[in-house]
Amino acid sequence: MKIIIIGAVAAGTSAAAKARRNNENAEIVIYEKDHYISYSGCGMPYYIGGEVESADELTPRDPAFFKSKYNVDIYISHEVLAISPEEKTVTVKNLTTGEVFTDYYDKLVIATGAKATIPPIEGSKNKHVFTLRNIGDMNRIKKFIVTNSPNTAVIIGTGFIGLEMCENLKALGLDVILIERLPQVTPALDSDMAVHLQKHIEKNGVTVLTSASATEITENSVVLSDGKEIKADMVLISTGVRPNTELAKVAGIELGVAGAIRVNTKMETNLPDIYACGDCTEQFHVVTGKPVYRPLGSTANKTGRIAGDRLTGGDLEFRGVLGTGIFGIFGMTVGQTGLSEREAKEQGYDVAVCHNIKPNKPDYMGGKEMVIKGIADKSDGRLLGVQIVGYEGVDKRLDVFVTAITYKAKVEDLFHLDLAYAPPFSTTKDPVMYTGMILDNAISKGRPLITADELDALMHSGEKYNLIDARAVSQYEKGHIDTAQSIPQANLRNASETLDKDTVAITYCNKGVTGNAAQNVLLGKGFKQVFNISGGHKQYRATHTE
Ligand code: FAD
Repeated sequence: MKIIIIGAVAAGTSAAAKARRNNENAEIVIYEKDHYISYSGCGMPYYIGGEVESADELTPRDPAFFKSKYNVDIYISHEVLAISPEEKTVTVKNLTTGEVFTDYYDKLVIATGAKATIPPIEGSKNKHVFTLRNIGDMNRIKKFIVTNSPNTAVIIGTGFIGLEMCENLKALGLDVILIERLPQVTPALDSDMAVHLQKHIEKNGVTVLTSASATEITENSVVLSDGKEIKADMVLISTGVRPNTELAKVAGIELGVAGAIRVNTKMETNLPDIYACGDCTEQFHVVTGKPVYRPLGSTANKTGRIAGDRLTGGDLEFRGVLGTGIFGIFGMTVGQTGLSEREAKEQGYDVAVCHNIKPNKPDYMGGKEMVIKGIADKSDGRLLGVQIVGYEGVDKRLDVFVTAITYKAKVEDLFHLDLAYAPPFSTTKDPVMYTGMILDNAISKGRPLITADELDALMHSGEKYNLIDARAVSQYEKGHIDTAQSIPQANLRNASETLDKDTVAITYCNKGVTGNAAQNVLLGKGFKQVFNISGGHKQYRATHTE
């Protein structure tokens, strides 16, 4: 049997390695048009910033390694120009010699990945304008910095790659300006979480321009749609990727979401004996079951392995993605998994959300706060998604949530997890457990939460309400939500006698705990509708200026 694979980074090489493990006798050939193979694209920003000292650390494997370890023949600088599914052949061009030849396959794997998108901005082809997708891009950026010593960099786009580059360019001493078309950074996050990230980035000396569109890049500036000109010695365009699927499309292979190759759970395309994996394919979402396009290295490795297994007779099956992602910037960690609140609402879920603000470990062990936003289905309590911004221990919590959502946990289940505890690592009740408790209280125990947005809507609706600041008077005096009255929680039992029990009451404290205690008091006194502000004054203040 002869297996041909197109593309030799994450998905293609995973497919080859697994196919070889399953089948010692197959002939396995990979064509790769680039010079580099099987590299760690995810580490590129850190080489540019100097944390990774040598580029060789990112490219530890070459064709000789694959030949000796897996008996796989990798031909670099070889571009596949066409696929003929009827003949079961590919047309290949040797980019070094210009020779064009035909090769045949029994099984074909398309692992052609993705390319950086470039919005229609005049001047985007200038020499000081870059995208970062592969080792060639990385080397060009590094060389430009070393040769030209730029002072200012503009980054267009605030996804995770743009932000990782922001941190690394800043580490090199550049002034960095971020330009984002949307009113918030990192579009995949809900805006009430993105706000924490934006403030942190700004605190670290980066200028962030949101609701700003670049229209032109000149030799030393970026011009915005409102005419404003921002000085830029170099520009990075980081506005996402699109799948490399022209080859597949011409061959008659069905495409799906975002123009990515449609595959089934065996990574088979619609054409016999043609598989596809990695960033060129669409996936399906674990929560909704619907197709999505979430190009990530974690998934590329996994789907490559599944393709390699299947085409050699294995039974691995793809189980979908949650869109889990994590990145760090200036010491902050940002993670998300599952549906965002916006996505959940678009999918028609009646959602309950909470903002749980807790330290990763006790104060006496140097604990640092994280904000966990939990998103759940009100109808059955199923956890749909989680977003976390914090410092230490975000990755650990995120992966617990990933596991819980994968196995369709309900919010009440989180409290019952037997999570590890000792003071250097966590609190007696872990932040994951609190997230479940808060959401369960809101959904099933009559302790509803109100978000800052919902409170704004209520305030503007003309409906009567009593907004109660349950913190100490001194805290109220330092700053409070407009229209709130100060009734410290300890006084609430008596003071509540003066309030109308039929009027909607809203309680809050700093982060939610005392607000919840105040909510309990009022409910116990027979108030009909009492909401506690999700994440308390801290979360409200993050999204509003008082
Ligand atoms: P690719 O890496 O795109 O490789 C496809 C290969 O196919 C390319 O080398 C291309 O030259 C070759 N090819 C295409 N067409 C042809 C043809 N016709 N003939 C021959 N060869 C062809 N993911 C994470 O999960 N976590 C991270 O932290 C993370 N960080 C990242 C940081 C950066 C800066 C970047 C750029 C990406 C990051 N990613 C991360 C994403 C991850 O790198 C990709 O998801 C992964 O590389 C996809 O692997 P792939 O093999 O599917 O595709």
